[in-house]
Amino acid sequence: MSQQGYVAAPPYSQAQPGMGAYQGGFGSGPTQPLYGHYGGPPQALSAPSAGMMKSSVSPAASVPLPPGPSQYNPNVQQNGSHPQSYPAPPAVSAPYGQPPHSLYNSMASPGPPPTQQLTNQMSSMNLGSHAQGLQSPPPPASSVVQQPFQTPPPSTMAPPQMPPGLQSPHMSPLMSPPQSPPASTAMASQSMAGTSMASMGRPFPGPPPPGLGGFQQPGLGSAGQPGYPPQAGQFGGYMAGAHQNMPGPFTGPPQKKLDPDSIPSITQVIEDDQVKQGGQVFTTNIRGQVPPLVTTDFTVTDQGNASPRFIRCTTYSLPCTADLAKQCQVPLAAIIKPFASLPKNETPLYVVNHGDTGPVRCNRCKAYMCPYMQFIDGGRRYQCGFCNCVNEVPVFYFQHLDHMGRRVDFYERPELSLGSYEFVATLDYCKNNRPPNPPAYIFMIDVSYNNIKSGLVKLICDELKTLLEKLPREEGMETSAIKVGFVTYNKVLHFYNVKSALAQPQMMVVSDTAEMFVPLLDGFLVNYQDSRAVIYNLLDQIPDMFADTAESETVFAPVIQAGVEAFKAAECSGKLFIFHSSMPTAEAPGKLKNRDDKKLVNTDKEKTLFQPQKGVYEQLSKDCVASGCCVDLFLFPSQYTDIATMADVPSHTGGSVYKYSNFQVETDGEHFLRDLRKDVQKSIGFDAIMRVRTSTGFRATDFFGGIYMNNTTDVEMAAVDCDKGMTVEFKHDDTLSEETGALMQCALLYTTISGQRRLRIHNLSLNCSSQLSELYKSCETDSLINFFAKSAYRAILNQPLKNVREILVNQTAHMLACYRKNCASPSAASQLILPDAMKVFPVYMNSLMKTAPLVGSTELSTDDRAHQRLSVMAMGVEDTQLLLYPRLIPLHNIDVNSEKPATPVRCSEERLTDSGIFLLENGQSMFLWLGQASSPDLIQSLFNLPSLAHLQGHMCALPELDNPLSTKIRSIISGLLEKRSNSMKLQIVRQKDKPEMLFRQFLVEDKGLHGGASYMDFLCYVHREIRQLLT
Ligand SMILES: [Zn+2]
Repeated sequence: MSQQGYVAAPPYSQAQPGMGAYQGGFGSGPTQPLYGHYGGPPQALSAPSAGMMKSSVSPAASVPLPPGPSQYNPNVQQNGSHPQSYPAPPAVSAPYGQPPHSLYNSMASPGPPPTQQLTNQMSSMNLGSHAQGLQSPPPPASSVVQQPFQTPPPSTMAPPQMPPGLQSPHMSPLMSPPQSPPASTAMASQSMAGTSMASMGRPFPGPPPPGLGGFQQPGLGSAGQPGYPPQAGQFGGYMAGAHQNMPGPFTGPPQKKLDPDSIPSITQVIEDDQVKQGGQVFTTNIRGQVPPLVTTDFTVTDQGNASPRFIRCTTYSLPCTADLAKQCQVPLAAIIKPFASLPKNETPLYVVNHGDTGPVRCNRCKAYMCPYMQFIDGGRRYQCGFCNCVNEVPVFYFQHLDHMGRRVDFYERPELSLGSYEFVATLDYCKNNRPPNPPAYIFMIDVSYNNIKSGLVKLICDELKTLLEKLPREEGMETSAIKVGFVTYNKVLHFYNVKSALAQPQMMVVSDTAEMFVPLLDGFLVNYQDSRAVIYNLLDQIPDMFADTAESETVFAPVIQAGVEAFKAAECSGKLFIFHSSMPTAEAPGKLKNRDDKKLVNTDKEKTLFQPQKGVYEQLSKDCVASGCCVDLFLFPSQYTDIATMADVPSHTGGSVYKYSNFQVETDGEHFLRDLRKDVQKSIGFDAIMRVRTSTGFRATDFFGGIYMNNTTDVEMAAVDCDKGMTVEFKHDDTLSEETGALMQCALLYTTISGQRRLRIHNLSLNCSSQLSELYKSCETDSLINFFAKSAYRAILNQPLKNVREILVNQTAHMLACYRKNCASPSAASQLILPDAMKVFPVYMNSLMKTAPLVGSTELSTDDRAHQRLSVMAMGVEDTQLLLYPRLIPLHNIDVNSEKPATPVRCSEERLTDSGIFLLENGQSMFLWLGQASSPDLIQSLFNLPSLAHLQGHMCALPELDNPLSTKIRSIISGLLEKRSNSMKLQIVRQKDKPEMLFRQFLVEDKGLHGGASYMDFLCYVHREIRQLLT
């Protein structure tokens, strides 16, 4: 029956598209009124019975496994494996053919600029000012949606302010004996996941008596230690003397010393989950099922909900009402990584092709066909799970239902049975209703003095010769469809014609950077395979051409503008790889000046250090997104470069920013090349627009990521790669039903690396409950902390750091106090009781507040802080988890014969031993720490040196020695480098050497080097806040 289809496109095909260029087809316009308008019964159409709803919405646990790929019907295929069965993409014989010519002419009215043969001398030829119409329109007042940091809504709880007068009574040492069985039967019967501190061996003591250090109330920090200005924070870590005697608060009589092992440990939680769920299959057929931790090694089988690799949520059980949500203050959010890499043993996404008809969508809310559509009326109609609208089934899509009410082709159609899949998009989803051209990569190399002198330019050119052979290609295709182009620049831009027919590349110089244009079309963006000889020639010549340069000034915004113009002219999307050394100070649009000012740190104006300069770059971001131009910035600074501004365009276009301070080829070259290789070869989609639809009762209200938003619902990205995650916050607008649950559908329209327009759909169903205990039980700490990191990092653009940190602590206390009040069984107030799923949340939160952007220390580089802020905004859950809790792996006692990965220990100085060797990594930095009493045997095995004293500084890799220990440790390091999305530079530090400070700042359970409390102190502080809230 279904075979007859794919031809008819009766009345429905006209309805959706046509709301402007291509967004209409995607559904921007018509869906607007969806929210809040359908609170009543579905219009005149009978709702299906509860039973019917249930069968579609909460898949039974007994759903059989979906069939293998071969069982899908012929027009459904595994992603990329049979490209020939697609409708062939339209032949694009001459991407720069006729239309661009006219375009070109209109751009450069004086006629095609002369070109000149490239010679070794490379006499520059300046093309004067062209084209009036190219000036950018004035930037809009504010095109980027910035929303205020979520302030804690008023709640029934007392404000967390602690009046100084209350200090003493509450600070009496309360070393309560373990309350009989605190987390025992009563809690179990409530099916509560609470774990009290007492149940973990020891009770948690109350706050310390005054005078013993410990905590300080907000606003009383006048007695700060040198280097820890009073504003730095609100924790006891800042109180003079607090840490002279660590762990101060707990050492004095009459307290017993609190065993650090008794407070919840992230490494233990990770290990326990690995033991429990590691190596197992996670089947996504159950609504609201909490997945294993991101750190756990597991396999996913898609049976109707998106894999946690694509979507993770802060909780898998939403509170039914807005009031409950407000009461607990647990953020409701999803972190979506639409292009997440899948391990080899998991099935890639299937691609569904409905031909000219395009995907079947709900007439009202435009949701795409998915497992949450309930077929009724013998299969002739279906009810949308999102808006409840009842739709006619298009004739071509009709299929009979079985006795369960399920379509008999259920397992043959990914869009009926799977959580994630793709649709081939029709022309309605393409810009100007034309199929897109394959994307292009433009390599733009700053050839000013610094980059030439450091050897960077030669390094890049040499690498590109081999790297360009490995451009990403569609599976099954012999070569990459991605075009390449080359630009070098300092104060002026040099474009290169590398057309395959040329014997020598040709250079054209544009010196009028105020009105940037691309002086050539034909021959600028080429197929690498075709033009390989000319490109080789060019890459050989570039380092020599500029070898004697004295030019130290650069432009920057015009470089990006040139890329945008090139993509516009070629009518394609793509990515710019910009290799840049210094702040752009040359006279040109986007010229920057040094505005770094450490005096602003810890003042209300500190936020300006994170804010980009407005104007040129703001407009540029907008242009880039409109043209599908993603910008990756590789920065090689030797001083302040205003990263807050320079990274503004990359951070709004789905790009990445890499920073190599004081770059030296010998020590940083390989590190940079690893990044470049990963970046060029990443799986990626271009010119993307994403929409998150939800079932009635809640909706997506806020978005965080390397994104751009023109309106409140469409998330635009010039590109999105496998490492980029968007965080989406949800709010209620009605009551949610426990029975139907809460559904979300993320639809991402994008252009593939071969130039095919596709829709990638991820569906996820969550539970809803009127019991807060369900919410706490279904929380995911790693996702929560991702949300908090992003919302805090955005908030510091508008608010003083101090406020942001206060909000974070207050919200932490609120969430935990609400649990205590509503979900935990009664116990002594002196006990800290944490929900099991959130028991390590305070460690992460404390670590977050000690990160460079939030810490407010003059010792930190403004650029580093801005860089970290922007990097985190685009991170998925794995990356924020690792960043906020580094892996600290002991290597001195490693079993060289074991396949089992070494077990990390807690990130605290206490775990280090003088005779130990430890590896620490957080996805951004990597250290090998050598204890001062390391065994000479170990040093000999690793370094081929008789003792530590012989170790030279600046070593950034272990020598390749032929012994089991060396082999084992090098393989651990290379395994980590392989696994992480970025390269990390290995830094080797000896205990007590000065560089050890760099390492110590990653021991996140300890007091922060630049301010911030130890984990223990923070936990005590939070505990006290909770008690305040509960009294
Ligand atoms: Zn609908």
